[in-house]
Amino acid sequence: MAVSSGPREDDSVPAFCDAVGIPGIVDIHTHFMPDRMLRKVWGWFDTVRHGDGSPVWPIAYRSDERTRLARLRTMRVCAFTSLNYPHKPGMAQWLNEWSARFAADNPDCVHSATFFPEPEADGYVAQALERGARVFKVHLEVGRYDPRDPLLDPVWRRLADTGVPVVCHAGSGPVPGPFTGPEPLAAVLNAYPGLVAVIAHMGGPEYAEFLQLAVRYPNVHLDTTMTFTDFTDGIQPFPEDLLPVLAAHPDRVVFGSDFPNIPHPYAHQVQAVVRLGLGDEWLRAVCYDNGVRLLRLGSSTLP
Ligand SMILES: [Zn+2]
Repeated sequence: MAVSSGPREDDSVPAFCDAVGIPGIVDIHTHFMPDRMLRKVWGWFDTVRHGDGSPVWPIAYRSDERTRLARLRTMRVCAFTSLNYPHKPGMAQWLNEWSARFAADNPDCVHSATFFPEPEADGYVAQALERGARVFKVHLEVGRYDPRDPLLDPVWRRLADTGVPVVCHAGSGPVPGPFTGPEPLAAVLNAYPGLVAVIAHMGGPEYAEFLQLAVRYPNVHLDTTMTFTDFTDGIQPFPEDLLPVLAAHPDRVVFGSDFPNIPHPYAHQVQAVVRLGLGDEWLRAVCYDNGVRLLRLGSSTLP
């Protein structure tokens, strides 16, 4: 298989790994959730329809948890996450309990956690870190909260001090929220410049503004989730004139997919990154090395 074209089918992903010289893929942006929540998420996607009634976003991996885990492992996705996020107060701690258990049962799933602006947040974030959480997730569109909320000050400070990354859905795509867009998160970074932030979806559609933040702050990264795919190219394409900036910062882009809630085969996200044409060294950094570094993966968890 020519590396330049990328894998066309899921079964070819291991051959892609061999061709570029990585043991597997580290995917910083996947979703494993309590079943009830996952079904709600799928139900929401089902409501979005084209004029002819066909789904805009048909979920490609609508299967039971065991089958979904097996699919990732067959493709040699050697580390992934269980990004959960609350849409109201009083939920985060329960989600964190679930994610801690899930990671304990599945050592290739990186222990993930989340939070919401509420008085208990700093306490349960501290507890999650103590229990070994290695990545956090915030979803500003679903959560509809201001990341500058003073209740989150101790949380941002704690995450900046520990260097544990936080995947932030902060861009206004596919749907804007009251606190999406670059300004609110830029203010957080201004206050906590050491924060290890991973801007989900390359910050789309505000690609240029979020890329600016990554250039300004050495700990700001962007995840590839859904970006560069045919689906996103059709609605919010990544501007071609920004590709040289990505090429110049291979250490700031990290592979993410949104598995299983994706409208295409997993291989297509890999292919989407490969076809940027930024070279094997760039691909090794994005698909493996950066994830290993950010998630502090050790030899015990890696092949
Ligand atoms: Zn996601």
